[in-house]
Amino acid sequence: MPTGATRGSSRSDLMLFGKKEEEPQSLRKSKPAEEEVKCGISGCKEAVARSVPVKKAKAVFYGLDPSKRRIHLCKTHYKEFKKKTKGDRDAERWGWN
Ligand SMILES: [Zn+2]
Repeated sequence: MPTGATRGSSRSDLMLFGKKEEEPQSLRKSKPAEEEVKCGISGCKEAVARSVPVKKAKAVFYGLDPSKRRIHLCKTHYKEFKKKTKGDRDAERWGWN
């Protein structure tokens, strides 16, 4: 009795199903082209390099839109963000000066 073979085939069927669910990429493409996005810091018109959580960016930049989850940053502002969020303890110490 080839019970093992039957088991094996039904298993691979399941795996195919799982793969198929990930496929509809065309539906996810409703986003506009990312090239058009500009830096989220007001007054800055540079092209976006990275996006970071607004929660974190708020500690570095003021006047951010809190209704947004992420903010897009240009290279310059991302550098600044990284510098200031790197090692919170150090930043606190600097604040005393
Ligand atoms: Zn910028």
